[in-house]
Amino acid sequence: MTNPQGRRHPTIRQAAVVGTGVIGRSWIRVFARAGCRTRVYDPNPSQVEKALAWLEEDLSLDVADGLISAKEAAEQRARVTAHKDLVEALDGAGYLQESGPEEIDLKKAVFLQLDRVAGTQTVIGSSTSGLDMTEIAQGLPGARRCIVAHPVNPPHVIPVVEVLGGEHTDLEVIAKTCEFMSSVGQKPVFLNSYVSGFLLNRMQAALIREAIDLVERGVADVKAVDTVICEGLGLRWALMGPFGVANTNADGGIREYFTRYREAYIEDMNDLGPTPSLDQAMIERLAQGTDAMFNGTSRSEIRRWRDRVLQKVCAVKQSDPSPQVIFARELRQF
Ligand code: NAD
Repeated sequence: MTNPQGRRHPTIRQAAVVGTGVIGRSWIRVFARAGCRTRVYDPNPSQVEKALAWLEEDLSLDVADGLISAKEAAEQRARVTAHKDLVEALDGAGYLQESGPEEIDLKKAVFLQLDRVAGTQTVIGSSTSGLDMTEIAQGLPGARRCIVAHPVNPPHVIPVVEVLGGEHTDLEVIAKTCEFMSSVGQKPVFLNSYVSGFLLNRMQAALIREAIDLVERGVADVKAVDTVICEGLGLRWALMGPFGVANTNADGGIREYFTRYREAYIEDMNDLGPTPSLDQAMIERLAQGTDAMFNGTSRSEIRRWRDRVLQKVCAVKQSDPSPQVIFARELRQF
């Protein structure tokens, strides 16, 4: 049995998912797909029911789309168990992924409880999109095993996970988390220190800020702005980030590219718009542009298409890896 990275086993065999909303339910698939026994808990039992129903439907759709076999779907399903009791859910878990609401006092209370209940060797990861683990784990006896593992929605489709510790997180826990995430098919990216929005949401905010400003000023409409990303920048960005792209945009690589275009970039950077107010009127204007762009297609249909195609894109990338990945693999053989 192999996971999406072609590795044989997850480095931790039993995982727990606490909080089974949009993100938690997707983590269930990540762990179960990789071969982990996956125990699931949510203080709201109807959320667990909803997550299990989603899991059932998502697996069936993947089978119907030919992404996995019926046997694989049954195996994934069989690895997942729901528990009404937190102590029972965490029993034997080597890794725990917390995906409760994004609210600092609640996260602190949840971590206090998880640290009390989880076995001393359990790594406690949080899906938080922007809270600081130093603050969440402040004063906890087990602060050393608390860590941020921030996914992108939905993590069973999009592999990157931002990993960062708090002030008291052990280096060993960081290494163990990165190793585990790789072994279940995710792509961990380590941050040396906390910054608001981490890497992903910070860069996304920079782009969205400019996108809104361009629409607000009437330079272009919603569809034009979106098209420039999905039919332009986004296509390259699925293969290489801004620096990798710069490196391939001039025969002399990134040195030549940034030297040659330095002034043009600085001029554009200085011309970028201010932070938009994003008031209700502007949100409505963006929403109308977006509604027109999707022309009545339901969001669930679009999401399903997104997830299906993204999984195919990931599979294509894996079947035709970048030369740098092949080079790294070859080096490992020596
Ligand atoms: P959600 O509202 O869909 O789900 C939250 C779940 O937490 C619910 O099922 C709720 O019943 C449960 N919950 C409530 N109180 C709890 C408690 N005390 N202990 C455990 N669970 C509790 O939220 P979501 O979108 O899944 O977000 C979960 C986390 O993931 C947040 O920290 C969020 O910032 C992060 N995140 C979200 C996204 C996204 O796009 N939705 C992306 C990346 C990270």
